[in-house]
Amino acid sequence: MEFEIAPDDAALAGEVRRYARKVMAARAARIDESGAFPGDNVRELAAMGVLGVNIPSEYGGVGASPFGIAGVMEAMTIGCAATAAAVGAHYLATDAVLIGGNDEQKRRLLPRAARGEILGAYALTEPRSGSDPAGMLTRATLEGGGFRIRGTKHFITNGAEADFIVTFARSGNEPGSKGVSAFIVETAAGGVSASAPEPVMGIRGSRIYELAFDCLVPETNLLGELGRGFKIAMAVLDRGRVDVAAMGVGLGEVALDAAIAWSKERAAFSHKIGEYQGIQWMLADMAVSLEAARLLTSKAAWARGKGGRFTKEAAMAKLFASEAAGKITDLALQIHGGFGYTRGLPLERYVRDARILRIFEGSSEIQRNVIARHLLAD
Ligand SMILES: Cc1cc2nc3c(=O)[nH]c(=O)nc-3n(C[C@H](O)[C@H](O)[C@H](O)COP(=O)(O)OP(=O)(O)OC[C@H]3O[C@@H](n4cnc5c(N)ncnc54)[C@H](O)[C@@H]3O)c2cc1C
Repeated sequence: MEFEIAPDDAALAGEVRRYARKVMAARAARIDESGAFPGDNVRELAAMGVLGVNIPSEYGGVGASPFGIAGVMEAMTIGCAATAAAVGAHYLATDAVLIGGNDEQKRRLLPRAARGEILGAYALTEPRSGSDPAGMLTRATLEGGGFRIRGTKHFITNGAEADFIVTFARSGNEPGSKGVSAFIVETAAGGVSASAPEPVMGIRGSRIYELAFDCLVPETNLLGELGRGFKIAMAVLDRGRVDVAAMGVGLGEVALDAAIAWSKERAAFSHKIGEYQGIQWMLADMAVSLEAARLLTSKAAWARGKGGRFTKEAAMAKLFASEAAGKITDLALQIHGGFGYTRGLPLERYVRDARILRIFEGSSEIQRNVIARHLLAD
């Protein structure tokens, strides 16, 4: 197993990391306070090629390896986790087109998506089905040579900002995951209305919406075969879970760096707090968790790069890295004492931003279910 990142991918991840530390980090508190969509970050990242990092060069993207994609995701999160989450939702949408789309669909959408001229969203969750998306109620029926999609999707990142929404709907009468199809819904065609953004705890600039669909979609916007969309949805989530794991690594890294710096600066009882074993052990535990999260994320990226399914590796990385990010950001806040609790420092934001990683793209409980299913099937 080799975890080596190609020179071009390393160069891009390095460029994003420098930009994230200098520009995105300076904007992150304001984005968090206002809950505004981080449009400037997204535009500037698009100019670096980041919106097409997962898209092969034949469709106008960077065509980075899975290590490169994870490296860019981690780098963005160091600056602003909300921006990384919004870009991550765009990756879910473009990954769905890559996995399920035909050549015409890829040529129509991906070059513009890679340049950031159009933004994507991924609509699977509904008000009554999150962990169990096979319970979806949204329907697609044949109408005028295309499909009419009717239903409500819930918690959709980029829902009101997106130009195209990869939408899953029930096109047959079979129960569960059978009979679900995937569609490209182009928002300019009308028929999709978004709620106000949902007020949330963290990653506040990455806005989520309830979307009401009553729209007509041409036949040419069906992704993959009719009734085979659920497989696309799950394959996309495998990739997305590695991206979420990389976000956990990014948040863990920035929080640990802050905790180390504070431990060397802050004094209590006439000593730097970093001289106390109680603090040293916290730092050691944080560093071990971060390293393990990074290794599991690298292993999942490696498994993705081999081709074939990597569902178990993605679930393990997502589970561990998201829980590690929760622990590391919490300990980093603790090491900062009262200052960590104030909004003057970013520690409390890191804690809030890390919390979602254990919920979206499959909660920690669902990752455990996925891992256990593989163990018992082996
Ligand atoms: C900020 C944010 C962004 C999001 N972005 C998107 C997006 O872009 N697109 C999209 O489609 N969705 C998105 N989601 C939805 C997200 O993926 C779901 O919220 C998540 O999958 C959990 O579903 P739920 O909220 O319906 O929880 P529920 O399914 O109602 O689960 C409630 C609790 O029960 C637990 N649980 C459920 N089933 C089991 C089980 N079998 N065993 C043990 N425990 C179980 C869960 O782990 C959870 O703790 C987003 C959500 C948020 C909050």
